[in-house]
Amino acid sequence: MEKAFENLEIWWITGAQLLYGGDAVVKVDAHSKEMVEGLNNSGRLPIKVVYKGTANSSREVSDIMSAASNERRCVGVITWMHTFSPAKMWIHGLQELRKPLLHLHTQYNAEIPWDTMDMDFMNLNQSAHGDREFGHICARMRVRRKVVVGYWQDPKTQDQIAVWSRVCAGWADAQDMRVIRFGDQMNNVAVTDGDKVEAEMRLGYHVDYCPVSTLMEYGKGITDADVDALVAEYFRLYDADEKCKTPGTTEYKSIWNAAKAELTLRACLKAKGAKAFTTNFDDLGSADVNDPHFVGFDQIPGLASQRLMAEGYGFGAEGDWKSAALYRTLWVMTQGLPGGCSFLEDYTLNFEQNGQSSILQAHMLEVCPLIAAKKPRLEVHHLGIGIRKAQTARLVFTSKPGPGVTATVVDMGNRFRLIVNDVECIEPKPLPKLPVASALWIPMPNFEIGAGAWILAGGTHHSCFSYDLSPEYWEDYAEIAGIEMLHINKDTKLADFKREMRYNEVYYMLNKSLC
Ligand code: MN
Repeated sequence: MEKAFENLEIWWITGAQLLYGGDAVVKVDAHSKEMVEGLNNSGRLPIKVVYKGTANSSREVSDIMSAASNERRCVGVITWMHTFSPAKMWIHGLQELRKPLLHLHTQYNAEIPWDTMDMDFMNLNQSAHGDREFGHICARMRVRRKVVVGYWQDPKTQDQIAVWSRVCAGWADAQDMRVIRFGDQMNNVAVTDGDKVEAEMRLGYHVDYCPVSTLMEYGKGITDADVDALVAEYFRLYDADEKCKTPGTTEYKSIWNAAKAELTLRACLKAKGAKAFTTNFDDLGSADVNDPHFVGFDQIPGLASQRLMAEGYGFGAEGDWKSAALYRTLWVMTQGLPGGCSFLEDYTLNFEQNGQSSILQAHMLEVCPLIAAKKPRLEVHHLGIGIRKAQTARLVFTSKPGPGVTATVVDMGNRFRLIVNDVECIEPKPLPKLPVASALWIPMPNFEIGAGAWILAGGTHHSCFSYDLSPEYWEDYAEIAGIEMLHINKDTKLADFKREMRYNEVYYMLNKSLC
């Protein structure tokens, strides 16, 4: 079990009824315990499943569902109908439930015991129709849920529960996420903006603001010794040229300033209980770096953003709070998985004739080292953008080759739209004159259709990328959140994609509860 999730629980509720007598319920209870133990001992579930007993009446269902809704440790509920469970008894409970729901369609025994099966056995093992009755009431009530069908000991079944469990953890984390914006949206950019009230209602997180002058106050509590210690840690973790490591050089000074910026940002985020933040390179504190009383960052805190992302802070550049929040959720969902994740930006295109056209993903500085193929290099170079044109430190690396998935959320005015694209990271060529971290990928199904669909859907130039998440994670996330999801993959055809968007337009217009 992943340590990150050790205080979280998934609750398991078994549906039954008293029609078949108390003995039947005792057996249902014993079977359920054995199944939950089996799941927990499978080693495939990241969050422990807690068996909460059988529910045999409307009152019992309501009690357990309201308890699940109010228990902070509980991040999701699994239901399974061992026997027939008349679904009217689930109505009030499902109305009370405010946690993600997974309906598992399984059975205690794998195969039919042909030679011994009698009517008692039939009465006891009725998942085949009990789960359909439960499915009906969920459909009738428009309850959003994941339905997993499979034998409970089958790794494929367990893996689907595991995916959903990780999404539940990310979702729970977002419900008390505070996103701090240092500065506002930059330069009239539309796609990075959106409805912050709707975001809190629909996606859970709270988008806040912190003046850069307040951020700078946290710099005053940072001692030179703290900064020296962090600089020493950089040189333990990353490769760097001698001139960077030599006190007294301008390179060393830039790295020292970057370390101070990191400590300042972290102190402020901790003090404010924030899990994500955005920066704005036009807003770095008071402007005169030669002023002896200078308060501020000497350049964009790029190295800080890179390292804070790796630590789990959501990050969005240029005021992009939706990407900052989505990155944080992605980071939580992937805890303990090996691949890595990053905020990225579509930087520049590489047209090729062989069907291998690709997109360079980078940012001025802010790419997360979790996706690095090799040990990152700490380098200092001039950066001529933003309010200060000065040299600054950054981690330079290229990302691992291999498949991944990138995602973004845009505000369509009447709904949030999650856009997901399967991508294939390929080996980039060296970029001796562009010393930034980068990835190079081909969007699926190919560059033309992948990029075309993304643009038709109104996707950002920013996205949150992961080597670990399959599209199933994002499907579960969109289901829990009740937002639109468009998935661009190997099967995408533009005509179908456009049709899906037109249908969705009508669906969300009519379905006001989702708008
Ligand atoms: Mn950007």
